[in-house]
Amino acid sequence: MWRRWLFADQLGPHFLDDRKQPVLLIESKAVFRRRVYHRQKAHLVLSALRHRAAELGDQAIYLRAETYGQALRKVHEPLEVCHPTSRRALEFVRGLDRVIVLPARGFVTSLADFADWADGRRGALRMEAFYRFAREHHGVLMQGDGPVGGRWSFDTENREPPPKGGRLDVPAAPMPTEDDIDAEVRADLDRWEREGIRFVGRDGPRRFPATAKEARARLRHFLRHRLAAYGPYEDVMLSTDPWLAHSMLSSSFNLGLLDPIEAVRGAERAYRKEGAPLTGVESFVRQIMGWRDYSWHTYWYFQPGRRDSNELGARRSLPDWWQDLDADAVDAHCLADVLAGVRDRGWVHHVPRLAVLGNYALQRGWRPSELVEWFHTRFVDGHEWATTGNVIGMSQYADLGRTTTRPYVCGGAYLHRMSDYCGGCRYDPRTRLGDDACPFTAGYWAFLCTNRPRIPANGRMARAMKQLERLDDLDAVVAQEKLRGSDPP
Ligand code: SF4
Repeated sequence: MWRRWLFADQLGPHFLDDRKQPVLLIESKAVFRRRVYHRQKAHLVLSALRHRAAELGDQAIYLRAETYGQALRKVHEPLEVCHPTSRRALEFVRGLDRVIVLPARGFVTSLADFADWADGRRGALRMEAFYRFAREHHGVLMQGDGPVGGRWSFDTENREPPPKGGRLDVPAAPMPTEDDIDAEVRADLDRWEREGIRFVGRDGPRRFPATAKEARARLRHFLRHRLAAYGPYEDVMLSTDPWLAHSMLSSSFNLGLLDPIEAVRGAERAYRKEGAPLTGVESFVRQIMGWRDYSWHTYWYFQPGRRDSNELGARRSLPDWWQDLDADAVDAHCLADVLAGVRDRGWVHHVPRLAVLGNYALQRGWRPSELVEWFHTRFVDGHEWATTGNVIGMSQYADLGRTTTRPYVCGGAYLHRMSDYCGGCRYDPRTRLGDDACPFTAGYWAFLCTNRPRIPANGRMARAMKQLERLDDLDAVVAQEKLRGSDPP
């Protein structure tokens, strides 16, 4: 049996064919020199890698080296490796003799499935159509030839505003208990920092699973105790509760600890056997075999140059306060809280990522490719394949709708409706001009005005563009936002 080389995002049992298969694991320090990662992300990756090595014992060769190349020079047997998750890593492994590259794992659908579906399709490759294909292909949440409940998506029913009392009544997700491996990782990272490797964000207790066992425990708990509340409140943002009923499993899928089809089948079972509400179950399934698989496939299917798409001509570099996660520099309550969440946990759920962080960057005209890198490095679950499509396509509209129908831009009114932020803010979400002007509301109108020719005249955007025409203070708002520039709001 060939030795299987596992990258740090291929750590679950589903990346081996046989429980006894010999394994190679490499910890490359150069990876942490190349980019400025969040400290808690570096901790999670190293902890997961070292925990896997400990689980495998003699079955694994575990090498710590400056580079992968240096480590590989110490291994003299032929190797096989599952398709890596970045172009750079794929090119590297393909250039090695003695290494066979196997098909990708860790996703519900295969690259070949996607190509079969996408090739020859006319028009944009929309997630909704791919998701439908994937559900049919794998027989997930199906009833005969159609979807259970008669609809493919229940998204429109999952838009409840914040619950009364400002809290969701759900049991907290189980948090991992740190062990000696975590203590060793923390000491090593402290030493690396002293040697000059730079991290951002605060260190903190490890909050995300580092083993398949921890990830499965969190999945079971989510399906039993939190899934029912997940659907209706998935879009809510609360300053008092960053986790709400989210599964907090994205990093476990992306480190390869948890097989996504296991989570999908588990959610389907919860619906069919335990009466979990279809709205939440369908939404959870859509996040995994819809959005997650779709992001993965479009990363490979579209040209590498997609990462540099910038059709709205956004030319400003990310400011230092943003790069450094300096939430204390920000007055706007929503942005300060979300940025503090990134600084303190390396994680906020998908709506603050889109509606606060991505939305703010879009309104300010920040370079999409820098934002791809930022989401990749500052989040515990960030990977290039995931952030490229989500930032370039969905968040920044930088490819003018190759995968989305409109820019994800919104003003303070939406944030006010879906969060508890505005009550404690020095700005007013209804105001667009003057000292109290909400930077999101003013930024929204300034963005629409500046990008008018490139905004599609469809559905909700058509309504917004009509409203724009009626604003009599538009020039002043645009001038005000130009002046605000990239300063912290
Ligand atoms: Fe955010 Fe504007 Fe609300 Fe303040 S008023 S919390 S800046 S949306």
